Amino acid sequence: MKQCPNCGLHNPDSATKCDCSYNFDLSELEDKSQKVDKGAWKWNVIVYVLLALGVVLGTALAVVLKDKVNTYMNVENPRR
Ligand SMILES: [Zn+2]
Repeated sequence: MKQCPNCGLHNPDSATKCDCSYNFDLSELEDKSQKVDKGAWKWNVIVYVLLALGVVLGTALAVVLKDKVNTYMNVENPRR
């Protein structure tokens, strides 16, 4: 058994790579996946924030527009 210095997971002696992508041969994290993951994480957060803002703004806009339309309708068409 060898223990991963990065995440502490116990791997078989034959393992060349840990589940966390730590490479036992190079004794370091594999650059590729790590860098890509960090970049992707940033973009995911930005996309989620934009989506959340869109939902919130869309809902707020819908409520405001509904109120305006109701007010407009009431003014234009008073109860008969
Ligand atoms: Zn690990």
